[in-house]
Amino acid sequence: MKTRTIMHIDMNAFFASVEQQANPALRGKPVAVTGSGARTIITTASYEARACGVKTGMTVREAQQRCRELILVVGDNRKYTATSTAIMTLLGDYTPEVEVFSIDEAFLDLTASLALFGSAETIAARIKTRIRQNHGLTCSIGIAPNKLLAKLASEMRKPDGLTVITPGEVTALMEHLPVSELCGIGGKTARQLALLNIRSCGELGRFPLAVLRKKFGIVGERLQQMGRGIDTAPVVADVDAAAVKSVGHSTTLDRDISDPQQIHACLLQLAEMVGRRARRYGVTGRTVHLTIRYADFTTFGWQTTGARQLQRSEEIFAAARQLLDALVLTQPVRLLGVRLTGLQHNGMQLPLFGEERRKALATGAMDAVNDRFGEFAVTFGSVLQREKRGSYVISPAWRPAGIRNVEVE
Ligand SMILES: [Mg+2]
Repeated sequence: MKTRTIMHIDMNAFFASVEQQANPALRGKPVAVTGSGARTIITTASYEARACGVKTGMTVREAQQRCRELILVVGDNRKYTATSTAIMTLLGDYTPEVEVFSIDEAFLDLTASLALFGSAETIAARIKTRIRQNHGLTCSIGIAPNKLLAKLASEMRKPDGLTVITPGEVTALMEHLPVSELCGIGGKTARQLALLNIRSCGELGRFPLAVLRKKFGIVGERLQQMGRGIDTAPVVADVDAAAVKSVGHSTTLDRDISDPQQIHACLLQLAEMVGRRARRYGVTGRTVHLTIRYADFTTFGWQTTGARQLQRSEEIFAAARQLLDALVLTQPVRLLGVRLTGLQHNGMQLPLFGEERRKALATGAMDAVNDRFGEFAVTFGSVLQREKRGSYVISPAWRPAGIRNVEVE
């Protein structure tokens, strides 16, 4: 299986930071967010409060004893939910595969997004900048080949950290890492492992599976894998498809481009991301929007509405491409965006007959491949080749050359 690129993002001292942003008088001060009851505990402490020993879960009295200047704020869930929603939406600009893990944490599968945005570090830097600019908040980001390690990586540097664990580093990293550092191994499991003389992940990974199975049952195998830094769990995007009003993606290009072929290639990748998301949500749309921002930041939008509901990437691409070709670009392009609106929610039904069914099946198979392997890197070259031959629309049966022989599950 191809190496995946998974990101875990964790907002720093989320509730307290949101309060500090909402009320500038709280900034730079020790702040603790509490519940509204009389006998309440600390939900989140600002980094200033943590510096004097205030921790999540402490009673208010205990926290006040540690920090005399502590400012208590009663938590406001609506404020945190609104900020969280805005941040999760922003993350969706980089991949449709966003798993909301908690109000201030998310996993992103970036495997298929790397060719479009550059490296995972580039995406992380953009996400950090946008969250800082839009919300005044910092986050810690971990990048790794799976969710277990991405979560571990984001924990390593706080606040405002960025930590990358490459596949080559995993074995050495796990060797001396205490098992309790892994998400999913709580105090109870750690104590049971200690009874077997297992304290480090290295020890856990080497421990005889039969003994682990006897002691932990079916979880034994999973524990051994965790010790080795292996985690095959997919990032599961949890989407309220019925609430989706539009499906769109845009990207700021690494450098301003004027070359039509490069613009087309980028447009196809965006259309592919939009199409994949539309298929995942079970929606079709009649209107395709194209957004272009020039190097001088002037931004224009165009749209076209056809007679038919669209969902396949090549149809969305063709419509966006038509809009683009009608334009005379007067400057290099800085940002491109494609969006599908006028949505109909019609589930995942396949057309029953003929050519339409064949195309839909082919698209489904391509999605399955792309979801697992992320084909954007190979797409890029193939698209340029195709453009030279004068064909503007990718065939539904088209496969990226590099993974022709892959079995689709
Ligand atoms: Mg957090």
